[in-house]
This record gives sequence, structure tokens and C-alpha cells, in this order.
Amino acid sequence: MQLSIDLTGRDVLVTGSETAARQAVRRYEAAGAKVFRLTVPEGAAGDGPLPEHPFLIAAVDDGQPGWEPLLRRAGEAGIPVAVEPAAGAAGHVTLVGGGPGTPDLLTVGAVNALRDADVVFYDRLAPYQELERLSSGRLVDVGKQPGHHKVTQCDIEKLMVEAALAGENVVRLKGGDPFVFGRGGEEVAACVAAGVPVNVISGVTSAISVPAAAGIPVTHREVSHMFTVVSGHAPLTEDEHTHLAGLGGTIVVLMGIGTLPQLAAGLRRAGMRADMPMAVVERGYRPGQRTTIAELGTIENAAAGCSNPAVLVIGEVVGVAMASRNHAAASADLNRLAASLLEA
Ligand code: SAH
Repeated sequence: MQLSIDLTGRDVLVTGSETAARQAVRRYEAAGAKVFRLTVPEGAAGDGPLPEHPFLIAAVDDGQPGWEPLLRRAGEAGIPVAVEPAAGAAGHVTLVGGGPGTPDLLTVGAVNALRDADVVFYDRLAPYQELERLSSGRLVDVGKQPGHHKVTQCDIEKLMVEAALAGENVVRLKGGDPFVFGRGGEEVAACVAAGVPVNVISGVTSAISVPAAAGIPVTHREVSHMFTVVSGHAPLTEDEHTHLAGLGGTIVVLMGIGTLPQLAAGLRRAGMRADMPMAVVERGYRPGQRTTIAELGTIENAAAGCSNPAVLVIGEVVGVAMASRNHAAASADLNRLAASLLEA
């Protein structure tokens, strides 16, 4: 359970060692509280004067013995105590999958990692609009910089490693899942090569969730029992078109807007039916989400105005979405008809 209280201008005593409490201190400061520190139970030289009756004690579980008497006295004096987790091991990188762009599809692990971060390196596909609420760490946009020059992959890896070696808890927040066309494997390798501990928190990939946003299931009983996820970053080879067309099931393409004409033509040459249903889902879970439905033979024209980020779906499951939509529309029509008959 999570409760929110307004701490603006309130005296909050944060207890716990410097290292363990650093993130809790930032969170309370970011919430507008006036933060006082007690780093050891008996008070250290640098701790300064303490408020007699703080509004709240944020007790960071730093593993030091000797905090119990203080917390007991707080209880007796009616001062609420919020137990806070200690900051995670410093000098560590966590690769976090941020899902397709809505905070609703962040995992609990992602939310916890963001809360514990000293610095977050994020890019445009991650749910970055909410980052200030989710993390009190430094936020660094590596997707674009002033002047719109993208930070290169090599520089991103260097920044992450340097921050971790300087003792920071680093989160690298990526769109979708870090290991699906996300270069997550390279970032893990860069950390390992530099001797920096690294772990990965999987995310909800756009390959499945963006079709779902448009009501398209990537598998459906008796319609499709497999799905293949393909990168459209570069055109496929003739061999790949042939295998893909021969597989059956659903084809999901990421980064496929630029190569859509080549893909549609290639699949046609490989024998796929021109009336195979196809969808382009743009900006899933974001403002301006839009679905364009056509057939393999007509998609190039239909999708002429489509832009990235978008997921392409090729297969009969697109028809399932249309059928359930038609069904919903038909039952809405029937309901309206029934209502008008009843009124009459
Ligand atoms: N690791 C990511 C994919 C990175 S490649 C994942 O697992 O989702 C980037 C591509 O993902 C985009 O070109 C687009 O094809 C797709 N994508 C990511 N987020 C999207 C969104 N919200 N709407 C539509 N497509 C999205």
C-alpha cells in the first residue's frame, strides 16, 4: 500500500548512514521536506542540531545496531516513522526495460530500480515523461542532446561505466525489453569488460504490447500458433522473405516503416497472398496512437503517411481484431436497436 502526504516545508529526520540514506534524502528533499540527518544513533559531529518534534522520521534500514531506542521514543512521542529501504550497492548498473511508453506497463522491478538510482540514462522510447516522479536520481537523456545529436552507443556505454566506477547506482532505462533489438547485450558486455556488476530487468516488449494496444493478439487459437519478431531496420534478404512467407503464423516487424515497401514486395514475391491482413500500429499507448489496417497488396499506399515508432503486424490475427471490433460494433448496434424498440 502506498500513501501520499504533503511534506512541503515539514521537518523530516532521516536516519541512517550516509551511503544507505543518500537516496531517501534526495526523495524527501524532492518532496519539499526540510531534511535533518542523523547518521549514527548517538549523532555524529556533522549531523547538526535536530528538530525537537519532527513531522516524520524516515528510518533507513542501514544495518547499524542501536536505532531501536530512538524509534521507540519516537513511537512514544507520537512521531510517525516511515521505514525506508537502504540504497542498493553503489557502483552498479541495472539495465531496465521500460515497456512501450506508458508507466502502467513498467514492472515493479523497474519502479524499484528507478527509485534506487543515483543516475538514469534514458532515451525517447522509454516512458521518460514520468521519470521525475519515479526517480530522484540525475536524469540524463542519451536519446538526444542539445542540437539533437544522438549520443553514440559507444559513448552511452562509456557514460554508464564511468558513473558506476565513480560509485553511482546507474539505471539504463530502455524502451520495451532491453534484449529485444535494444542493444542490451552490448551494454551488459561493456559493463562486464569494465568489471562493473550489472543486472537486467526485463520489460514489456512493444512486439507484443503494441499490437495488443490495437486489439490484435499475436497468437489466437486455430488462427496463429506462432509469431516471428523481425527487425525492419535493414531490408531482408530474398532468402529471409522466402522463409518468413513459408512459416505461417504472425509476423511482427519493429523499426519497419522505412523498409515497408521492400518487405511487402518481398513477401509477395515469396508467394504470400496479396489479401493477407496487415496492420500498422503507430505510437502505441501514447498520445496519437493510430492503427492502419489494410492488406499485404495495399499496405504500401494505405501506410504512406505512417511514421515511427510503429509496429507492423502481418497475419490472420489482424482479422481477429477486426472481427471482434465488428462484433462489438454489431452488438452495440443491436443494443441501440433493442433500446429504440423498447422506447417505441
Ligand atoms: N526494445 C524495444 C524495441 C526497440 S527497437 C522493445 O522491446 O519494444 C524500436 C522499435 O520498437 C520502434 O521502431 C518501433 O518499431 C517499436 N516501438 C517501441 N515502442 C513503440 C510504441 N510505443 N509504439 C509503436 N512502436 C514502438
